[in-house]
Amino acid sequence: MSKSNKIYLDYASATPVDERVFQVMQKITKENFANAGAIHEFGVSSEILLSQNREEVAQILGAHADEIIFTSGATESNNLAILGTVQKNNLHIVTTNIEHASVLETCKYLDLPAGRQGNQEIEVTYVPVEENGIVNPEKIRKALKKNTVLVSVMYANNEIGTIQPIKEIAKVIRNFNKVNSTKVIFHTDATQAMNYLPINVEKLGVDLLSLNSGKIYGPKGVGLLYVKRKTPITKIMHGGEQEFNLRPGTENIPLIVGITLALKITEKMKEKEAKRLTTLRDYFFAKLLKLQYEIKINGDSVERLPNNVNITIPKIPSDLLVIELSAHGIYASEKSACKSGDKKASHVIQALREGVDEGSLRFSLGRSTTKKDIDYTVKSLESILTKLSKWYT
Ligand code: PMP
Repeated sequence: MSKSNKIYLDYASATPVDERVFQVMQKITKENFANAGAIHEFGVSSEILLSQNREEVAQILGAHADEIIFTSGATESNNLAILGTVQKNNLHIVTTNIEHASVLETCKYLDLPAGRQGNQEIEVTYVPVEENGIVNPEKIRKALKKNTVLVSVMYANNEIGTIQPIKEIAKVIRNFNKVNSTKVIFHTDATQAMNYLPINVEKLGVDLLSLNSGKIYGPKGVGLLYVKRKTPITKIMHGGEQEFNLRPGTENIPLIVGITLALKITEKMKEKEAKRLTTLRDYFFAKLLKLQYEIKINGDSVERLPNNVNITIPKIPSDLLVIELSAHGIYASEKSACKSGDKKASHVIQALREGVDEGSLRFSLGRSTTKKDIDYTVKSLESILTKLSKWYT
């Protein structure tokens, strides 16, 4: 980002709103404020807009329009996916140890028998990822039980960018269901994947898929959950019958129009942008590894998002690195912004190296990132390390 010489490298945390998205939202906010549930002409025009956008989203995902539930973001979509499918006692969930807090904390909430009224007894298996940050589908298979109701594995990790073998896991679950006559539901959080990876739900083989808009150059505060037809799921909030009776509340038409256009634009740019950023990312890694300081790459170097560079620089506190970089006009991050108040090391980094309590530094690239930005960032990091390494040896 060249605006006033600031380099924004925190796109995994938030993206700027695409100008085209902003313009259309502004127009809709002014012109289509009627409630989509109202039966007068003005309300009907909101309802038509809602249906058209739902149809367009469904087309991008290879889904049916009645399988798209608009929500307030990925946190809500993940909560709906988990709490909405795990409604009875004595059920079992399988997930991994590197999921986003909105999945892990929801599982933990269910896992604690006293955490929920009625003392719901739910067991959760947290399958550990391998050292490269990727889960082995065979380990998912071994974790499945007769009372497993849901498997939730993220498509791509928000901290280290590792891409999970979603199609393979879907196959494992399909086979398990066939042999055992069970109906294990497969959910994936595709929030970080949407910008760069194929998203056809049929080809991925998932029953539920979460997305948000704030990572795809759309507005914040809107997301969606894809719910495959016939998936047993119930609403978790109570109120009106909007969103096929799965998500009550007046639909926010400007935000829904915003996420739809953002999805369309990102889908169109995906292939080209993934290629461009993969080249930049690998150039960035190569330059970092040439520095005269010990630098560890976190996560698989190939099966990772094109925009993700996550490293550990032993001994030097990562929050200090983020602050020093910020003083140079470079905006990176330490771990997930959702957990930045938590002083403990990231659960994702801890999952990679057992017993090691190390920090991490995440640079996430985006549409405005250039080679010049990378050169300046590495040069700045080098001078920061020269200064700090005198104190932290
Ligand atoms: N899942 C992942 C993988 C994420 O990166 C995020 C955002 N940090 C979320 C879920 C939560 O998204 P939202 O802020 O839209 O609730």
